[in-house]
Amino acid sequence: MSQQGYVAAPPYSQAQPGMGGYQGGFGPGTTQPLYGHYGGPPQAFNAPPTGMMKSTAAGLPPPPVSSHYSQNVHNGDHPQRYAAPPAASAAYGQPPQSSYNSMIPQAPPTAQQVTNQMSAMNLGNYAPRPMHPPTSTVPQQHFQAPPPPAMGQPQMPPSPQSPQMPPQMSPPQSPPASMPMAGPPMPGSPIAGQPMAGPPMAGPPMAGQQMAGPPMAGQQMAGPPMAGQQMAGPPMAGMGRPFPGPPPPGAGGFQQPAPGAAGPTGYPQQPGQFGGQHMAGPQPGMPGAFPSGPGAMAGPPQKKLDPDSIPSITQVIEDDKVKQGGQVFTTNIRGQVPPLVTTDFTVQDQGNASPRFIRCTTYSLPCTADLAKQCQVPLAAIIKPFANLPKNETSLYVVNHGETGPIRCNRCKAYMCPFMQFIDGGRRYQCGFCNCVNEVPVFYFQHLDHMGRRVDFYERPELSLGSYECLATLDYCKNNKAPNPPAYIFMIDVSYNNIKSGLVKLICDELKTLLEKLPREEGAESSAIKVGFVTYNKVLHFYNVKSALAQPQMMVVSDTAEMFVPLLDGFLVNYQDSKAVIYNLLDQIPDMFADTNESETVFAPVIQAGVEALKAAECSGKLFIFQSSMPTAEAPGKLKNRDDKKLINTDKEKTLFQPQKGVYEQLVKDCVASGCCVDLFLFPSQYVDLATMANVPCHTGGSVYKYNNFQVETDGEHFLRDLRKDIQKNIGFDAIMRVRTSTGFRATEFFGGIYMNNTTDIEMAAVDCDKAVTVEFKHDDALSEETGAMMQCALLYTTISGQRRLRIHNLSLNCSSQLLDLYKSCETDSLINFFAKSAYRAILNQPIKNVREILINQTAHMLACYRKNCASPSAASQLILPDAMKVFPVYMNSLMKTAPLVGNTELSTDDRAHQRLSVTAMGVEDTQLLLYPRLIPLHNMDVGSEALPAPVRCSEERLTDAGMFLLENGHSLFLWLGQACSPDLIQSIFNLPSLAHLQGNMAALPELDNPLSKKVQSIISGLLEKRPNSMKLQIVRQRDKPEILFRQFLVEDKGLYAGASYMDFLCYVHREIRQLLT
Ligand SMILES: [Zn+2]
Repeated sequence: MSQQGYVAAPPYSQAQPGMGGYQGGFGPGTTQPLYGHYGGPPQAFNAPPTGMMKSTAAGLPPPPVSSHYSQNVHNGDHPQRYAAPPAASAAYGQPPQSSYNSMIPQAPPTAQQVTNQMSAMNLGNYAPRPMHPPTSTVPQQHFQAPPPPAMGQPQMPPSPQSPQMPPQMSPPQSPPASMPMAGPPMPGSPIAGQPMAGPPMAGPPMAGQQMAGPPMAGQQMAGPPMAGQQMAGPPMAGMGRPFPGPPPPGAGGFQQPAPGAAGPTGYPQQPGQFGGQHMAGPQPGMPGAFPSGPGAMAGPPQKKLDPDSIPSITQVIEDDKVKQGGQVFTTNIRGQVPPLVTTDFTVQDQGNASPRFIRCTTYSLPCTADLAKQCQVPLAAIIKPFANLPKNETSLYVVNHGETGPIRCNRCKAYMCPFMQFIDGGRRYQCGFCNCVNEVPVFYFQHLDHMGRRVDFYERPELSLGSYECLATLDYCKNNKAPNPPAYIFMIDVSYNNIKSGLVKLICDELKTLLEKLPREEGAESSAIKVGFVTYNKVLHFYNVKSALAQPQMMVVSDTAEMFVPLLDGFLVNYQDSKAVIYNLLDQIPDMFADTNESETVFAPVIQAGVEALKAAECSGKLFIFQSSMPTAEAPGKLKNRDDKKLINTDKEKTLFQPQKGVYEQLVKDCVASGCCVDLFLFPSQYVDLATMANVPCHTGGSVYKYNNFQVETDGEHFLRDLRKDIQKNIGFDAIMRVRTSTGFRATEFFGGIYMNNTTDIEMAAVDCDKAVTVEFKHDDALSEETGAMMQCALLYTTISGQRRLRIHNLSLNCSSQLLDLYKSCETDSLINFFAKSAYRAILNQPIKNVREILINQTAHMLACYRKNCASPSAASQLILPDAMKVFPVYMNSLMKTAPLVGNTELSTDDRAHQRLSVTAMGVEDTQLLLYPRLIPLHNMDVGSEALPAPVRCSEERLTDAGMFLLENGHSLFLWLGQACSPDLIQSIFNLPSLAHLQGNMAALPELDNPLSKKVQSIISGLLEKRPNSMKLQIVRQRDKPEILFRQFLVEDKGLYAGASYMDFLCYVHREIRQLLT
């Protein structure tokens, strides 16, 4: 393996843009390392390893992990994440010792090299070479889609059930609705109308699933030469990283498209009951019913494919829960695929970061760029550096090296971690990232034990844990000066709309209790966060709430062109000190503006004021802006209505998503440089140009919340839940993150609520527990199977009490020259996170139609490559999916039906922009849920059980007339009631005699004293608790008009506005795969 590689650039300690110089005393002045400062249970360090380790240098395989260590973690009182000896450190993939003499002066790759790598990833270059045939049994899914017609692609009429389905997929001449699924008649084929036994498609291939149809002429995969083969689809040039484009924004919570007239208005009655049972045979009236037979061909009627025979997300989730739920996941093995995000498990850090912090699209990287190009599987990590940990997992240990600061590699500046290899009796260590050999600082020296491991291995988190924190020295602070605690500034739009709706009073009342709950350090008596208050309409009002005052004082700034803060002393205060004055103020605000008739507002000057206030106070912080309308008052950043539905489905549609430039661009830079995060709470009654208004929040690690047509009675609680969650979030400020990698690959693309001044430093004014950054990797060189691939994510930030810290997450991955390993180690939930973010970025620059085509083509390429290189030979009529990706098509189809990727005039432009931006900062868990909502039957659950009823597939077929279902996707929450719900059920839940008595617009269920009501209430509150955003409960009755809002979340069905059913999509993809393979 070549040692030539990427040399990461300047350390954090070097001057950063916007990070000037600090001075002053900071931190303890000891030069001795403080061992006891980890904040964890002291007993955690008492368990020395027991002669089970092997020398790393020897490169021996890891020994089996002793079970007695993993048992520790079950003991809630002793989260012994620290006591357990990892398996031999070879598992961390440390490079062999011999390589430390191979230090070649290195240089960063040239621009040309980078370009080559980008273009090397182009889909259009798809040209698989023969790979090693698989020799072992491959976990994979076989299921047969009937073959396409042997000749050409005859045009099929759309199935009668779906006449409105517009062509959504490429190529336009063959919409999936008319996909020739059945092809020529296949007498005797076992697939037609045959229900398959058992839970199909879960786990390894089953004999009963193989169902290969009779061989058909021209169908055999004869292994034709593939080189130079071109995709039949649209031009794909430049798309391997799939969507080139400038970096975008992210964050928030969104609403469904406004109730409109769009979509089907009546839903056919379902024959019979389903209740989890699949139906075989033709289903009259079922939307998305599968082809009633090739229109042009005569022959026996084709029956539709059994929907239970195609891979099911709910089944995959359930299987993983059964297999790994409640277990301990220890991170001592390189490249280990974690349990799914939907599974509850406990993590024990033994040298790699918890999957709560980092998940990857695959845990086995292909060794070469050629292989990566061939399979088209994106190589990416989704990093949530501040992820919340469950109570039974220990929070990160904090290392303190005193004035010396963190130990770092001299060359690449990577931080001390389990991937550093100590040699030469402990006097030197070799960096696992750049292979540089470093002297161990004198104070840090420690002897090695007989296995070559430092004897203080278990006493130092940085040596043995995948994740830890380290106190930063003044070198890491602005102007070499310790930071002040951050501040929260509440900025309330007091224009006519907000006063009239009662919103201003609602906010002021809530703040009185909420400010008591500002985040504070563990053990601290009160929060160190300072608070300040501004109200505004066309002018801004600042308030002096100094504790010494009897009454708050207001100062008005009417010149919004040159924003300044009229008072320094008394604007940002400690809440506890100034509580009386603040109460007074919050009581007065609603009355002060009660008679306002000012309806115009400013917006950019409000943000500017916040930034100036933070700058003046020399602190970072967050602005909470509560605004109801588009800023139309004469001031910088004034906006006008530029919504234009005529642009939809044209090349100019992208402009609807592009923010207005100028003032807002500059504000982003100012905010990031000052560590000023912006949260925007919007209460619009019409278009507000969200794409522009959300630009600052989405580049500063903030969130955007939107409450259309806000009414206190029905939306108040929903909004307050969001506000409470947001204020109390675990958060870091003024952050800068760097992802370092071992030689051979590096981070090239970044998605998140971030700002980047250069190609490596990820700047975030703030980063909270729900924000994730997705990072894509590309090869620089070949990777070695032996050493694997390592990444280190280092986040420098200011804590809520004003301490400067580093948070380090390390992860090692496998590398393989066999694509099979990559496919086996894929994580579909992470893949779809990457695709969602890259597609949502791409629509800023290219027509939505192209983006959808790219998604479909890449899906087909990924699966075709598996089929060609990894799967055992089988009839071409079988669709064969890698086990780890078998539900990938469901997610991909769902993604393509999301509002941002559907050009439809019924959808609100602001809602589309909102979803686009929100997804950008989402973690894997959130995108998974968004793209595959939970549909939970409540009518037949065991009310005595603690467990959540098992969700069913998101399809109309799973609903029952007498049923009651809950549906949620993290942003929307529905209670759906079937027409034939029993009066008993209605009585128990609503205290009403029948469904007909139910009033629309009920914001919450009544609390009733019966087991069913209590159970339903507890399920709902459990979900609201768990999700990052609040959700407004919407109650819909079967066949009532609002049901249309609910139906769009049944993602396996044909899309409401556009988009294929899962079945149609799968067949379409299958056909694309076959084209690629022949
Ligand atoms: Zn290094």
